Amino acid sequence: MTTTILGLDGADWQIIDSLLERGELPVLGGLIEKGCHGTLHSTTPPNSPPAWASMITGVNPGKHNIFDFTYIDESYKRSGGCDVPHRLRPPLWQILNRFGMSTGVVNLPIHYPAEPVNGFVICGLVTPWSAEVFTYPPEISREIGNPADHWLIGQTLVRGGSPKEFLEEIREKTRTQTDWILRLQKEHRPDFLMAVFDGTDKLQHFFWKHWDKTHSRHDPRAARELREAIPDYYRYVDACLGEVLRARGETDVFIVSDHGFTRMERDVFIENWLIENGYLRLKSAPPSATQKQFEKTGRSIWNTFAGNGTLKSILKRNKLTNWLIGRIKNKAEESENASKLNQNVDWSATRVFFAGVSSQSLQVNLKGRQTFGIVEPEEYESLVREVIDGLGKILDPINGKPVVRAAHGKDEIYHGSWMENAADVIVITEDGYSLQEGFPGHLVAESNLYGTDRSGGHRPEGIFIACGPNIRSNPVRMEARITDITPTVLYLNQLPIPDYADGSVLTDLVDETYLASNPLEITDQITLSQSKSVEMTPEEKELLENHLRALGYF
Ligand SMILES: [Zn+2]
Repeated sequence: MTTTILGLDGADWQIIDSLLERGELPVLGGLIEKGCHGTLHSTTPPNSPPAWASMITGVNPGKHNIFDFTYIDESYKRSGGCDVPHRLRPPLWQILNRFGMSTGVVNLPIHYPAEPVNGFVICGLVTPWSAEVFTYPPEISREIGNPADHWLIGQTLVRGGSPKEFLEEIREKTRTQTDWILRLQKEHRPDFLMAVFDGTDKLQHFFWKHWDKTHSRHDPRAARELREAIPDYYRYVDACLGEVLRARGETDVFIVSDHGFTRMERDVFIENWLIENGYLRLKSAPPSATQKQFEKTGRSIWNTFAGNGTLKSILKRNKLTNWLIGRIKNKAEESENASKLNQNVDWSATRVFFAGVSSQSLQVNLKGRQTFGIVEPEEYESLVREVIDGLGKILDPINGKPVVRAAHGKDEIYHGSWMENAADVIVITEDGYSLQEGFPGHLVAESNLYGTDRSGGHRPEGIFIACGPNIRSNPVRMEARITDITPTVLYLNQLPIPDYADGSVLTDLVDETYLASNPLEITDQITLSQSKSVEMTPEEKELLENHLRALGYF
């Protein structure tokens, strides 16, 4: 029997249900009818790097070491932290390869560089834009061409393109990805295929307000293509899933998302709160709101020019305009650097700092761990408690309601050998809020005022649908954890489950006959065969950072 995992990054039942009610999404609808489905609970925080890593290893982030896109090193700098060499548990396909099965993995986020496998690999998000090789076998990379132009979603955002151009880019790249899956399926017929479409996540971040009529920035008069952007893409991807599944033939299939989605309306500038409460001190005053606005305008003007070669070359002939553009660009960069947390913080008077937008977490400036750490290890526990209490009391000045639903010390949610790399306090905001970096002079603001207009954000409740010869039929919506997928797939291939797994086999969805004839086996023999580390060049790192920033993760 073969297994197929098709990922829809950030797919959410709210959208799928609304389309199923109208009789749309025939492929997903058919799988739900014949198989099982339910909520797939993500990691905390519900962020793609830890979530996908938990999906493919069956363990919590404390055991696989992927907590975010990056981690903060001892000198307060962001370092790469979520690619293959940092993932310290074997992925599902490595185990399958070891038991003689062939595998294909296409466009999985947080998967780079491509490691040699019995089958094929095409890497996904976190592949540097200029990477010459991001596939196994390497020849595939040459045929695909430059990953920014032909594979990874986000190029139009970095260049400041219009929403319409962004929609076109997503559609085009989804087509390319589907064609490659079909071609490699035909050439290799792997026992296990995992492919991820990430257009769902990118679209929902930037177009959620057009779909969600209750969103505070919903505009019912917006163009049809914007209002229908999310449903249109789900319909398109449903058809792509159909093409892939037809090519796969008889197979156990899992449709999964790494997290769900919800509205994002307001930013919480948590560093303001840290300063006001004496946890964080700056060396000089942060840039004022007007300066921030100038920086934003300067950057968007620059992006417009940079994204338009013709306009730029015409303007270059004019010395005055040229000088002006240079000034705006320099000012924008200056201001951006000044607002970078690690450059303006007085570490000798800082006890707690913000670790980043994607991880929604705080870090303690701990003595012995950070270069200029001032918090004594024996103070750590009480400081973490105090901060967690304080976060719960932050109120939105507009409606007087709390903005933080829960905050956790890392020991409450993770366990394993890599706890030292986890952030100290992980924050779960109420629906509609997101912790943001920067110092605009107030605590809470509309999430479109500073930076790009992101109107959708992650929530922990993702989706799963399972269907196939070894899956039973059950219309009741079930509950599962993201760590359950790997043990379940191993079991369905009559393979033992690693003893270190945190997830369990979802026996409720396995066919009764299969269950009765296949005893569950546990093994302590699964170890990681580490792929050799490929250090990114500074240019590659910069391109990757620009990409992640444009997507709103930094
Ligand atoms: Zn995701």
